Amino acid sequence: MRVSIIPAIFCGLPSWNSSTGSAAWSSGGYARSQVPAGCVNLPARAHFPAVKSFDTFDFTAIASLNKPLVLELARCEYIVARDNIIALGNSGTGKTHTCLALGLAACQRGFSVAFYTAAGLVHQLMEARDERRLLKLQAQLAAVKLLIIDELGYVPLSQTGAELLFEVFSQRHEHGSAIVTSNLPFEEWTSVFQSPRLTGALLDRLTHHVHILELNGESYRLKHSKARRRREAQQADKTAEIPASS
Ligand code: ADP
Ligand code: MG
Repeated sequence: MRVSIIPAIFCGLPSWNSSTGSAAWSSGGYARSQVPAGCVNLPARAHFPAVKSFDTFDFTAIASLNKPLVLELARCEYIVARDNIIALGNSGTGKTHTCLALGLAACQRGFSVAFYTAAGLVHQLMEARDERRLLKLQAQLAAVKLLIIDELGYVPLSQTGAELLFEVFSQRHEHGSAIVTSNLPFEEWTSVFQSPRLTGALLDRLTHHVHILELNGESYRLKHSKARRRREAQQADKTAEIPASS
């Protein structure tokens, strides 16, 4: 989906960096310079992963998700309070959909939002460090009102990567909100950050003022592809039942 379909009135210019897995919107109220480098001036070939809203989210499909809490969070008061959100659950249960919808809601209310995958953000931080522009990137990340970090847990981080990501959370602590999604329960986060000490310090900051969303259940994708296959099989059976003479 091309980014240009995102309503410009809501978000200003969003951008998606497909090579590093990051995207960002700058609201009209925020200077471009506050948005992380590489997140504006979209390369022509780049695509935003998806535009998602709660209008297309089926809450009945995920019983573990606290719908009243999600709808409350969509009002964005947690951003004013500088609270964080952590969405936990297995793959395909709507974590990315939820954080993109919360991101869109934040844009609609004029907050600056930056979206990254955890691996994409670490990649950008390491690159910035190598190019001696880490402080600038860190300052830009700290200035964004809502930082969304998706897919923490799929890829274990190197020690440097873990430390750089920790610094991002540390610098934002009580200054701005973050949404983090992960397929791993908290007790397994050490496997991502390698160090129990670092993981403990990170969780301490992240969960100080936090709203936890639980998305555990059958994968939405899997459920839908199973239902489709069932329909196709039923259709094939019906076709086979038609007598050859008819
Ligand atoms: P996760 O990030 O948890 O792996 P995603 O958010 O990527 O899952 O969801 C996988 C796909 O299923 C996406 O296309 C998403 O829009 C869709 N999806 C997941 N849950 C729901 C839901 N409850 N209602 C509508 N679509 C959903
Ligand atoms: Mg996801």
